[in-house]
Amino acid sequence: MIKVEHLEKKFGNLVVLKDISIEIHKGEVISIIGPSGTGKSTFLRCLNLLEHPTNGKIFIDEIDILDKNTDVPKVRQKMGMVFQSFNLFNHLTVLENLTIGPIKLLGKTKESAEEKGMELLKLVGLAEKADSFVDELSGGQKQRVAIARCLSMDPEIILFDEPTSALDPTMVSEVLAVIRRLAREGMTLAIVTHEMDFARDVSNRVLYMDEGIIYEDGPPEQIFENPQREKTKAFINRIRSFNYHIDSPDFDLYKMHAEIEQFCEKHAFSHKMINDILLLVEEPLVLYKAQSKEMNIDIRISYSEKHNNVEITFEYPKKVGNILDNAEEDDIGVMIINNKAESHFETIDDKNKLRLTLKKN
Ligand code: ADP
Ligand code: MG
Repeated sequence: MIKVEHLEKKFGNLVVLKDISIEIHKGEVISIIGPSGTGKSTFLRCLNLLEHPTNGKIFIDEIDILDKNTDVPKVRQKMGMVFQSFNLFNHLTVLENLTIGPIKLLGKTKESAEEKGMELLKLVGLAEKADSFVDELSGGQKQRVAIARCLSMDPEIILFDEPTSALDPTMVSEVLAVIRRLAREGMTLAIVTHEMDFARDVSNRVLYMDEGIIYEDGPPEQIFENPQREKTKAFINRIRSFNYHIDSPDFDLYKMHAEIEQFCEKHAFSHKMINDILLLVEEPLVLYKAQSKEMNIDIRISYSEKHNNVEITFEYPKKVGNILDNAEEDDIGVMIINNKAESHFETIDDKNKLRLTLKKN
């Protein structure tokens, strides 16, 4: 359905896409992952000609869309695009957002456009908002309207560029649920996303982009469980666990918190969960500080989807002992820790390892 050959895109001297060749087939659900700044958005924008490629060829249904004689607007209609920032018309009602395209560009009558629009609003669960204005909606609702608007143009493929990144964590799942439904119904989708659990279970193919190329292309089992190439491995390991080394009592607590929150948001943890994790990192650090002359501790947070739990591990020199046992019995920090998590302590070689496990909620 889409065939890309040796696509290259430069901005001035900056080579963003080096050499991209790929085929996307009808019915495929493709997730595109990779570090930020590697050209994922640029790639999607080249596909529907929001950016003009520097070199290479793009065929949509065998039509060369970079050919001067191609009817670009017509080709572009085959591809819907959903942006991080919704891009809805704020001065129109929800239903008008869905009918303006079909009336102006597809020549539909107002009645048939409205009928289809209502059908699509039902599909995304927002029929009762038809007459509301866009700014009365929550972020999650806006994004669902944006998806419905896309569908109103009868696209053959929808390109999603981080559709949930601008949303409050509580609203991510309602948008992902709508995308899942489209996938189930056989719509062809290409989704740039940081939601790794979602990417794994919704897509039948994952592209890992790095260094201006599609660095690894494979089924989700390969990319997430058994990546073949070096950079993919490093990226996948990084998103699976959060690691932080502290070697000074004056370490930057706020920076660490911010990084932990970022890690948690990638996994769509609830606010309560994030707060619990922050507490369960901070309380042992307070105990450690009180019991050790020097600061030398490694923290690791990892989320296991299989066990639906989060493990926080503290690794520090053996001589400090078990910081939970060493504390006063009525220490408030120890009480918080025992209340929120199961703890496990072991000594391996010259290191102590304290592991706290909490269920994801
Ligand atoms: P990603 O979506 O993977 O985070 P982008 O495609 O947004 O990456 O950007 C890739 C690189 O291209 C970045 O270095 C970005 O600054 C640059 N870039 C993107 N769009 C433009 C533009 N219109 N002009 C100049 N540079 C751009
Ligand atoms: Mg981007």
